[in-house]
Amino acid sequence: MTKIENHTLSSLRDALKNKDLSSTEATQAYLSRIENASSLNSFITLTADKALDMAKASDAKLTKGEGGDLEGIPLGIKDLFCTKDVLTTAGSHILDGFKPGYESSVTSNLFNDGAVMLGKLNLDEFAMGSSNETSFYGPVISPWRRNGDTTKITPGGSSGGSASAVSAALCAGATATDTGGSIRQPAAFTGTVGIKPTYGRCSRWGTVAFASSLDQAGPITRTVRDGAIMLKSMAGYDPKDSTSINQAVPDYEAVLGQSVKGLKIGIPKEYRIDGMPAKIEDLWSKGIEWLKDAGCEIVDISLPLTKYALPVYYIVAPAEASSNLARYDGVKYGFRADGDLPIDELYEQTRAQGFGDEVKRRIMIGTYVLSAGYYDAYYLRAQKVRKKIFDEFHDAFKAVDLILTPSAPSAAFGLGEKSGDPVSMYLNDIFTVTANLAGLPGMSVPAGLDEQGLPLGLQLIARPLDEETMLKGGYVLEKAANFKARPEDWWI
Ligand code: GLN
Repeated sequence: MTKIENHTLSSLRDALKNKDLSSTEATQAYLSRIENASSLNSFITLTADKALDMAKASDAKLTKGEGGDLEGIPLGIKDLFCTKDVLTTAGSHILDGFKPGYESSVTSNLFNDGAVMLGKLNLDEFAMGSSNETSFYGPVISPWRRNGDTTKITPGGSSGGSASAVSAALCAGATATDTGGSIRQPAAFTGTVGIKPTYGRCSRWGTVAFASSLDQAGPITRTVRDGAIMLKSMAGYDPKDSTSINQAVPDYEAVLGQSVKGLKIGIPKEYRIDGMPAKIEDLWSKGIEWLKDAGCEIVDISLPLTKYALPVYYIVAPAEASSNLARYDGVKYGFRADGDLPIDELYEQTRAQGFGDEVKRRIMIGTYVLSAGYYDAYYLRAQKVRKKIFDEFHDAFKAVDLILTPSAPSAAFGLGEKSGDPVSMYLNDIFTVTANLAGLPGMSVPAGLDEQGLPLGLQLIARPLDEETMLKGGYVLEKAANFKARPEDWWI
């Protein structure tokens, strides 16, 4: 029998359908791996009893040859998705004890298709960060290490728990969210596949909001096929989210392996930035060759507004966050400061004690750029530039079908190496925030290792709602890169 750590989500699906193993066995195997991997800190809450109950129900269906597309498959859920009656923290002290009375639409979709929930995965506080070091529950550690070095490496963020858990084979796949790169950057850092679909493709209902016009859910998985399978289940129209797109979800898996001959691939020169490691340049060139070999046509393009994407993102995202996070005041749910305090002091003390430094920084920046007198100079101007970035992509996609770039400007870094310098941390998002600002689908595919043995990813960006072309391209890159490296089990 295949060991659980050698299964992909799709091979596990087939094994469950063929009754080579039961969902209960798969669930137990993951639970015991998770117990042995506590040093990675990838889970905030383990829901072992619930998982075994769900697995038992799935086994009853599988025995009868019934069940959904994900029947019996154990997944990890980023702790930004509200899960009914299960602690949901968003990685923050301020949500202490919060057990939602409802299920997020994305997790409902997964559970309706038969998925089993193993537990809730660690993340940067309110998904703000690129290294998972802002979590109230402590940083997540990547299973990857530099060659001959025991320095603790970040799995990236904010979906660090999802990336670490998938890469250490603690679950068959994980949900994640991406506001400025939080699916694609951690995927690139951990040799996993991360898909951020078109804005509106997955419902935001029941997902703790960070920046509502940018937030999008998607999967982190071992393979492109696994990502296609999970995305199909997560996506779909939801009348409870006013920005949800009312269009049928295609069978993403069905396009894998289809020819990419004749597709035009744009290579934007502005993504060739100073100081980018030579190995990333090399892999980007290799990616170009791989797609050329598959019959694609390579087109040099220019996206001159790229340099404004990061400043625009770091105005728009904090502005929306400052508004979304106003609801955490100690009155309705979560943490409340001690003492018999007058109402204004209760708010102040609760927020001062309940939020971490990075979240406070965002709230202050956001409040500032939205304040009277500065609104026009910052927020409104950023919104105008955002529209121009959207238009620039729209024009680029008249000439090309996909855009190929590196996923991140560096490999994963060590814990503490950037946490003291917010700007250098924000620079991590340079290649990813553009797709969020323009609402476009983007994915990261593992492409190779750097000199120190750490994974690097390539990013594909596609037209709105054209996840299918993106997945076809991603599948070609995955096959050509033939990325087989796995982290050693040093944490067990
Ligand atoms: N690193 C970015 C930030 O801190 C993106 C986070 C995200 O996508 N959730 O805002």
